[in-house]
Amino acid sequence: MAERTYAFASQKSFRNGRAFSSVKYCYCPSCDNLRPRNWYARRNCEICNKECVTIVVERTIFGLLMYVLDAIAVVLIVLYAAYYQFNADWASFFSAIPSDVALILIFAMIILSFISAFIDLSKTTAIAQQKVEAIHRNRTAHKIQR
Ligand SMILES: [Zn+2]
Repeated sequence: MAERTYAFASQKSFRNGRAFSSVKYCYCPSCDNLRPRNWYARRNCEICNKECVTIVVERTIFGLLMYVLDAIAVVLIVLYAAYYQFNADWASFFSAIPSDVALILIFAMIILSFISAFIDLSKTTAIAQQKVEAIHRNRTAHKIQR
């Protein structure tokens, strides 16, 4: 019993270590419902409250792009506030970028981040759907064997 728990734990950490980030999906076999599982959500189906199968999908390159764009937007917002609101000396180099251009850049980063997040979500959802279909195929194969 202890060995099993250990094997599961090491498998899990390997899986988490390989991908820079992953999305968890909740698949309910009773409702045939697949949806992303939020960090605050319980392990149960939102419709019938039965326990759902957790499907882990690694984020795509668009997921990474989303984080990078968010980071750039945060840096730009901090520099913008420091220079234009608080006249901080350390941010004086920011005067090279006119204020309206800086604002357009900030909004562009946020909009591009949203687009990246949307593409990432649609791609990971498609992969999760494939994994669900694989579960169905395995079950059907199992039934035929019996
Ligand atoms: Zn359900």
